[in-house]
Amino acid sequence: GLREEIEELTQRKTQLPELTEDDIVTFEKLPLSIKTLKGLKRAGFTVPTKIQRQSLLFSLAECDVVGAAKTGSGKTLAFIIPILEKLYCSMWTKWDGLGAVVITPTRELAYQIFEVLNKVGKEHDFSAGLVIGGTDLVFEWQRVKNCNIMISTPGRLLQHMTENPDFLIENVQVLVLDEADMCLSMGFSESVNCILEELPPHRQTLLFSATQTRDVKDLIRAGCKNPVFCSVHEHS
Ligand code: ADP
Ligand code: MG
Repeated sequence: GLREEIEELTQRKTQLPELTEDDIVTFEKLPLSIKTLKGLKRAGFTVPTKIQRQSLLFSLAECDVVGAAKTGSGKTLAFIIPILEKLYCSMWTKWDGLGAVVITPTRELAYQIFEVLNKVGKEHDFSAGLVIGGTDLVFEWQRVKNCNIMISTPGRLLQHMTENPDFLIENVQVLVLDEADMCLSMGFSESVNCILEELPPHRQTLLFSATQTRDVKDLIRAGCKNPVFCSVHEHS
């Protein structure tokens, strides 16, 4: 049953500190729900990439994580998987509202993340929504009302937060800042900082960036609590 599975996952998560990245030869070595493992398998993912192995050891233990790795290293799954697992193990349902928010700088990236989420999260019962603008604010809100996992661009997310009275963020469990360096270089610094101030402090934050500029370091200080730093330089 569900409770037994969650109990077992919780137990296995306490053993994560005993594992190293070399132990994670397949996703099955990680304490992941059957639904997530099925989703990964169906999408053709069996062997985690280096940044995934490094960061999942900590993100699945609910630590804040800062991940640095170049484009193409597999950062998307490194945050999609912890989101699915956190909500699943909290027995989050469609009726519990917004539980996770992903912020990414462009619409194209948001679409890509949304697709990966829909594929890998297929077996789960969470609803996902895109908040990326390009349409009427009220219409967009109608579409994403009651969504559990939101993929958004910074300006549009902030707009919903300030203009939409139905937008409830107080239960958000996981915040992801994807391509943090690009968010800042595209001028979203102020929006992202406003969003950080509004989100509940008792949340997990995962921040991914290709580079670690001074601005990114400031953002890490503003958004993360004692983060674990994972960085991959070589080809993975
Ligand atoms: P990044 O965000 O670091 O630029 P992505 O998450 O977009 O990287 O992944 C880059 C590519 O690698 C995608 O085509 C994705 O499907 C593929 N990929 C990611 N993780 C794995 C994996 N564990 N096994 C095989 N392919 C993967
Ligand atoms: Mg990416």
